[in-house]
Amino acid sequence: MIPTRGYATQGPTADLEPFSFQRREPGPHDVLIEIQYCGVCHSDIHQARNEWQNSIYPMVPGHEIVGRVARVGSSVTKFGEGDLAGVGCFVDSCRVCNNCKDGEEQYCENHLVATYNGTEKDEKTPTFGGYSSQIVVDEAYTLKVPDSLPLERVAPLLCAGITTYSPLRRFKVGEGQKVGVVGLGGLGHMGVKLAASMGARVTVFSTSPSKEKDARDLGAHDFVVTRDPQRLEALAGKYDFILDAVSAQHDINLYLNLLRREGVLALVGAPEKPLEVGAFPLLTNGRALAGSMIGGIRETQEMLDYCAEHGIASDVEVIPIQRIGEAYERTVRGDVRYRFVIDMSTL
Ligand code: NAP
Ligand code: ZN
Ligand code: ZN
Repeated sequence: MIPTRGYATQGPTADLEPFSFQRREPGPHDVLIEIQYCGVCHSDIHQARNEWQNSIYPMVPGHEIVGRVARVGSSVTKFGEGDLAGVGCFVDSCRVCNNCKDGEEQYCENHLVATYNGTEKDEKTPTFGGYSSQIVVDEAYTLKVPDSLPLERVAPLLCAGITTYSPLRRFKVGEGQKVGVVGLGGLGHMGVKLAASMGARVTVFSTSPSKEKDARDLGAHDFVVTRDPQRLEALAGKYDFILDAVSAQHDINLYLNLLRREGVLALVGAPEKPLEVGAFPLLTNGRALAGSMIGGIRETQEMLDYCAEHGIASDVEVIPIQRIGEAYERTVRGDVRYRFVIDMSTL
């Protein structure tokens, strides 16, 4: 076993604190990655605080992982020692169900091995995430990371990047379309960059007037402060596609109303309580409400390659791990520009 250092929480109201645990020795198909940076996703906070009521403690969060391969198993072909590597929200899956075979492993019908707050394939051993010195992952679930982008800005692509890229592709967002992004946080800011790069005309819907300049710098063409519902009413029926990346309670009907005939609202935000959907905002214009969860390995690699080709990376604030508590508080307040990333050399 490999002694590993990390930060863990012991319960929903506990702080994250130094924690020691063991990683498995790399098997024939595994790579051992020395973690350099790990993004701080709002899902880390939801789970650390048991807001989704499925938390396992102690918990080492973190699923936006980048680093360098330090060791490879005897059958590994994709990676060599010293290569950059990335790990996202899951580290294995059943590999035999229809969804795994289709490369949509995130929807594995049997057992998705979450990077943390999950169990290994034995369904007993807890998994620990990226707020740690190293991780051992099967190469089939490890991503090739481009070396043309600053590594700390690549880390958030492993969750925020793929979670926004996947629905934009699935609903064929492109040239000439009007797209709304609700909530300018970690996911939202990647949604803006990606949708704009695909040729869409992007509007940010935000509760924070102070984010307008940033939104435009990220590629948005319009910015609407949502505290004033009248501004939203004036935009009814004008949007082709809306990406809702809000982490807390909000009125989704306000955004459904913005969709044109057969427009789609894709929900990626995961607030702890159910959202109320009125029948008429959905029925009118034959609108669709869709959900989307991260993306499969193949599509995650496609997204990383797309970002390298288009020079797209996350806007980040790099922090030492000792400031993780403050980063959580600021993220919950919407005060993040636009992703905290932990420099793991500070561990
Ligand atoms: P984040 O950085 O905290 O961003 C969330 C944004 O939502 C905030 O910046 C804020 O934007 C807005 N917001 C926050 N509280 C609000 C409120 N009470 N009313 C209206 N707007 C509010 O979070 P994130 O990391 O991007 O994650 C967003 C959500 O997606 C979380 O629930 C997370 O768990 C979920 N998630 C889902 C997936 C998936 O696979 N579907 C993957 C990753 C994360 P403004 O200041 O612009 O209003
Ligand atoms: Zn995430
Ligand atoms: Zn499966």
